[in-house]
Amino acid sequence: MAFIDGKTMLEHAFKNNYGVGAFSAHNVETVQAIIEAGEEMQAPIMIQVGQKVIQTVGLEPMKSLIDWYGKEASIPIAIHLDHSRELKQTARAIQLGFQSVMFDGSSLPVEENIEKTAHIALMAKELGIGSEGEIGKIGGTEDDITVDEKDALITSVEEAKTFAEATNVDYLAISIGTAHGMYQQIPNIRFERLTEIAKEVSRPIVLHGGSDVPDDQVRRAVQLGVSKINVDTELRQAFINGMREYWKDNNNDIVLANATQAGKEKLKEKVAEKIRVFESQNYAKAFFKDEKVVTLR
Ligand SMILES: [Zn+2]
Repeated sequence: MAFIDGKTMLEHAFKNNYGVGAFSAHNVETVQAIIEAGEEMQAPIMIQVGQKVIQTVGLEPMKSLIDWYGKEASIPIAIHLDHSRELKQTARAIQLGFQSVMFDGSSLPVEENIEKTAHIALMAKELGIGSEGEIGKIGGTEDDITVDEKDALITSVEEAKTFAEATNVDYLAISIGTAHGMYQQIPNIRFERLTEIAKEVSRPIVLHGGSDVPDDQVRRAVQLGVSKINVDTELRQAFINGMREYWKDNNNDIVLANATQAGKEKLKEKVAEKIRVFESQNYAKAFFKDEKVVTLR
């Protein structure tokens, strides 16, 4: 069994200066593609279950699906709940055996964000599960929620430090110039701010909106303490493009599996490409050796 708690996974990445790709899953083929790419690259991976797929497929079915395809894997895998905005949902994911959960209270008043995130972090810790919280507002559109450019706030050092200490989350999502979705202009990660925050919070940092960020910026961010990079938009785009290309040449083919396989192949290539950028390839063996890991269920 290859399922590992998110904290242990990210601490290994943090110590060894590589980034773990947190790839969003949407259906059977995306789950298969993410796991197969991880296996071929021998990289630890996180598989994210986000709010959109919870609405359409459901939290529990997605967990079962990933369990099914991941159970024989030779690489470390953590199943992660992305952008949960309801304590009830986050707690349910913990109950279902997710290895990592995010409570996103970034749209709440700071006091309330701290209070609720601390609650989840404590519960997760007691059960040996990794927890993620968010401070500052990350721009762009994720699932059904859009944060306007003007409302996206760069996280201050002070608020990051206060939030990390008060909540005791294992890893911290901050707003440092990336946004959800594809970019109109090349994003500029605020490296100075990242450096200062990483020094103060001394725990892994999470980069949201990892799609479409130039590779050199991602690599530099990893060197400065980013250990989890969320990728969703670029994967969906690859999958859809794969299906479109297939149908361009075979527009009368209604064997759905032919098109979804074409999408799967493109998504798999994209995951492998990201793993190369994050420099997590070939860390699977070292992880198990260094951590003498007790795998979860
Ligand atoms: Zn996000």
